[in-house]
Parts: sequence; structure tokens; C-alpha cells
Amino acid sequence: MAKSFEMEPRKTTRFETKYRKICTDIPVPESMPIIEKLRKYEPRSMSGQPLIIWDRADNYNVYDKYGNKFVDFSSGVLVANAGHSNPEIKKAAIDMLDHGLLHNYCFPSEIRADLIEKLIEVTPAYLEKAFLLTTGSETTECAIKLMRTHGQRFYSPTKLKIVTFENDFHGRTMGAQMAGGSKGGKAWIVHHDPDIVQVPYPNAFLYDWADEKNPNYSDDNCFDTWMGFLKEACGGKLEDIAGFMPESYQGGWVQLMPKGFVERLRKFCDETGALLTFDEVQAGFGRTGQLFTYMHYGVEADIVCCGKGISSSLPLSAVLGRSKIMDMYGPNEMTSTHTGNPVCAAAALANIKYIVDNKLVERSASLEAIIRPALEAIQKDYPVINRVNGAGAGWGVIFTKENSKEYDPDFAHDVTRAAIERGVMLFAPVGPGCTIKVCPPLTIDEEALKEGLAAFREAVEVTYAEYYGK
Ligand code: PMP
Repeated sequence: MAKSFEMEPRKTTRFETKYRKICTDIPVPESMPIIEKLRKYEPRSMSGQPLIIWDRADNYNVYDKYGNKFVDFSSGVLVANAGHSNPEIKKAAIDMLDHGLLHNYCFPSEIRADLIEKLIEVTPAYLEKAFLLTTGSETTECAIKLMRTHGQRFYSPTKLKIVTFENDFHGRTMGAQMAGGSKGGKAWIVHHDPDIVQVPYPNAFLYDWADEKNPNYSDDNCFDTWMGFLKEACGGKLEDIAGFMPESYQGGWVQLMPKGFVERLRKFCDETGALLTFDEVQAGFGRTGQLFTYMHYGVEADIVCCGKGISSSLPLSAVLGRSKIMDMYGPNEMTSTHTGNPVCAAAALANIKYIVDNKLVERSASLEAIIRPALEAIQKDYPVINRVNGAGAGWGVIFTKENSKEYDPDFAHDVTRAAIERGVMLFAPVGPGCTIKVCPPLTIDEEALKEGLAAFREAVEVTYAEYYGK
């Protein structure tokens, strides 16, 4: 199990710059009663993040109430794409509160109409309808339902297999977790649906099989090797596949799929009637320099799952898809109590307008020129980084033992702590605990970004010195 963040305050070096300030020990001794209250009343599962009390957040800064100020590289788990407390989003939410509609269930509302119209307007033309939900998990559950229904209704009663990719993440509700997650995390399910099957992620770095079974591995030919795994997973019944649901990039590693692979997967779907859903809950709304990350692959999606950056703030998610798929269920057969909550919908609409009007997708692409070289330079200087993965403003740094391929979650944990002590906000490492995500709001000031990256480098440097005495 990965290390947890210790309750014992540690001495810090006090400093203040334009973008960051550390003026207390961390965790802040005065904040301990709040942390203890959380520990007392929340399940232990909620105690995994660094022990900084988030008091307020503004654009790319997070503040506690004890005077500390952080440059945010977490975007609050990739939500605040348009910046925290974006004034236009805030105004839209306040206006809706003042207007006096806090809830409307599935009754028609103008704000829901405006939001889904905007969503369909800014996304590719073949995505014709949008169904609003609240969390990312609900969207992947919904996609599974739609893919299965589609296979059964338009092809055959046995066309119901859902194919997902090992180590992808789709959420923590039952269907979502069955479809993704680590194998260990799924033990509680016991009665795993035999028609939800996993295949390896198509990438030579993550899977030695690509080298072993296909010495001529390349991005373009890995599909053929992978097809062997698909046949095995489906008992040879490829015609029974209702749909595939990859994460557009694998969040645990910030790993994109080879373009050639996705092109062949799309072709396979077209030939067999399987649907292709991209889980864009994390990767969407500009994170990697395209509106949706799957657009890097140059293919069409049948269904897209959205969440997080869709509002940059309040809880709202959406399933987008072709009408033929989205209209399969009749009135009141596919709904949710909080669908398109008016305040959340107002926030999401303002967010999408902000992203488009301020060209944040293009800005995300351009931030790559700052983030990639800074992280690659750290990798070059410290032989504890196996890979730097990502695109646009979505990056992952994967830590291993020195000059080794063995992942090192403890080292990644200690880098995270050291970065926090230097005023850089990171969430706990992901994947098997060895990937630190560098994912600032797309609105981040370039100087603040550079300063944060320099502080992150320092965190690696001190941790390396601590572990290896160099
Ligand atoms: N899919 C992906 C790719 C995600 O990253 C997440 C959340 N991390 C989810 C689904 C689940 O979203 P939620 O936590 O909102 O249910």
C-alpha cells in the first residue's frame, strides 16, 4: 500500500514569491483539529490526499487559511481547466441562484436547453445529442448500457460484450469499476460479469508482451498482436462485441494510445457493428491540446463520456453520442434526479463559452512547449524517472528505483510531499502510486508555471539526495 501523508507537522523553509508562499510547518499545526474531525467522521478511504486544508482557490492558486499559497498542478483532479473560481463561471452560478431555480429534475428548463445546444455546437458534428448527469462514473455506466442495448437491439441478443483496457479507470460504482480499475480493487465484486472483458493497453512501454510476442512492434502493427488478446478475452466470439470503452489517455500513466492502433480499432468497429466509446471524463475539454483527447487519433467516436473539465467547477457530467444510439430509450427510461441541475448547468455553459472564447484548447497545446522540456530535463538529471508522458497541459512523471524499471511509489510520495512544502499543489501519485501528475489549469500564467516546475525539480532533487545520498 502507498504511504499516507503524515499527521506530524514538518519544518519548512519559509519563503514568499509572487506566486507561492509557505509560512507555516506542514501540515499546519492549527489545522489539525479539522483533519482530526475528518478522520473521525469520514471513511479512511478519504484520507489519501496531502493534508492541506483547501480554503479558497483562485485561477491557478490554492490557498489555505493560514497564509500558505500554492501554484496548483492538480486542477483539483483535472477539473479546473478554466481556472478555479473563474469569475465568469462564478457569476453564471450566482445569477442562477439569484434567479431562483436551484433544482428542476427532468422538467424542461431553459438553461438545460442552452447547455446541451452549446455542447453539441462545439463538439464534432456526428455527436448529435447530450444526456446530462452528475458524475463521471454515471457516464461510463450509461455508455455500457447504451453499447449493450445497441448490440442487442440492432444485431443479436448475444452481442453484449463490453471490452475495456487493463488499468484504465472508469469510476468506482459497480459497472464502472468492473469495466476498469486495477484487478486488486475489484475483488469485492466477486460475481464479475463475464461479458465485461479486459484486454491489455496497446503500448510497448507498459506491456513487455509487445516486445516478446512481436519483436517488430510498432505503433501501427501492434493491433495485430493485440488482436490475439482480444480473441482470447472474447473466447473467439468477436461478433459478440457490443462496444469498446478506452480511456482516451490512460490516466494512471497519462499514456496516449498509438494512433495507428486506434485507426484499426475504429475500422474493426465499423466492420463488426461494435461501438467505440471514449472515456474523456479526465482527458476532455482541452486538457491535452485538443477539445477531446481522442481527436489526436483522427477517428470518430460513437459515444463520449465527459465530466470534470466540462464545468471546471460544480458537479456535472454528460454522455454525448449519435442520435441513433442516444434515442434508444423511451421517455423516463434513461433519466437522473439531478440531470442538468440549473446551477451546475449555468456553470458548465459559462465554462464552455470561456474555453472557446479564450482559446484554452490552443493554449493547452502551447503549454506543452514549457512543461515537456522542463520535465524531460529533470528526467535526464535524475535516473529515477522512467518516463515522462503526456500532451498539452496533461503530464505524468513516472518514478522508479534508481536506474531500474521497478516502480517506486514511496519516492513519488516523498516528491509530492516535498513539492507541497515548496508551494506546489499536487494530488497523491496515481497508477500503482508511482505517477505524479502535472496538470495545471489551462489558464496558468507562464511565469507561474515555470516557477512551479522549478520548485517541482527542487522537490525531486532533495528527495533524490535523501534516498541516494547524492
Ligand atoms: N473516468 C475517468 C477517466 C476518470 O478519470 C474518472 C475520475 N477520476 C471517472 C471516470 C469517474 O468520475 P467520477 O469520480 O466523477 O465518478
